[in-house]
Amino acid sequence: MTPTRRCILGVFAHPDDETSCAGGTFSRYAREGVAVYVVTATRGEQGTLGTNGQRVTRHGLPRVRDAELRAVLRMYGAEPPIFLGYRDQHVQQVDRDALVARITAIMHAITPDVVLTFGPYGLSGHPDHLAVHRATVAAFHHYRQTTAAEPRLYYKALLPDVVKALGLTLEGPEVEPTVMIDISAYKALKIRALRTYKTQEDAQRLADLFERTPWAVETFHQAYPPVPAGVQSVGFWETAPTSDPAVLMPHTRQDDAARERAERQSP
Ligand SMILES: [Zn+2]
Repeated sequence: MTPTRRCILGVFAHPDDETSCAGGTFSRYAREGVAVYVVTATRGEQGTLGTNGQRVTRHGLPRVRDAELRAVLRMYGAEPPIFLGYRDQHVQQVDRDALVARITAIMHAITPDVVLTFGPYGLSGHPDHLAVHRATVAAFHHYRQTTAAEPRLYYKALLPDVVKALGLTLEGPEVEPTVMIDISAYKALKIRALRTYKTQEDAQRLADLFERTPWAVETFHQAYPPVPAGVQSVGFWETAPTSDPAVLMPHTRQDDAARERAERQSP
């Protein structure tokens, strides 16, 4: 039997969104032979202009962030980025039908079976994230109605501890993960990718946070077709024999608590 081609398409707003949301997942699947594509709506030209003494000009920033994203996707083993070329912080102002049509056309060209994007709150509520969410959902439904691929749509979702640590206010699907992917083998790579976004304060802060915490999973919510609440699987294609997250994953709160107890007891 010929193995079926597996393909993930991530649709995001700014260079670094893909890494914050799914850097470990993209690396892991790319290494397993899955085709990984990332669409990025802007070059993030309104972002911060440097960290740790580094300083780039506003004019030079889009070129730098373009290069940062390319470098990161190479690290993952993903395909080169597909830039839509919209202006940072202006995705909500672009013609919505045109945006949906462009994303739909990319889906038809790439034929992903997994589409990954922001949920309805866009994690941070950034207007570009919201615009990308709405356009990607609309594009996904056009695509799925005209393909035999039976694609699935996922939103980035977060565990409660992560929401708290990031100081976010979220509800709905973005705090209801149904997929929990072990990225422990790729955590160092994800941190290195975040560090590659040298111009971006948020990426550096997230790298600091990953270094300080035992986090080693990336979590997503399957939006289409809908699935029952709770963690259902340990991957986009893998299913687990149990729906108990404590059994699914080695990095649960119980494990952390047990390790802390053991550490306290050791001399
Ligand atoms: Zn963003």
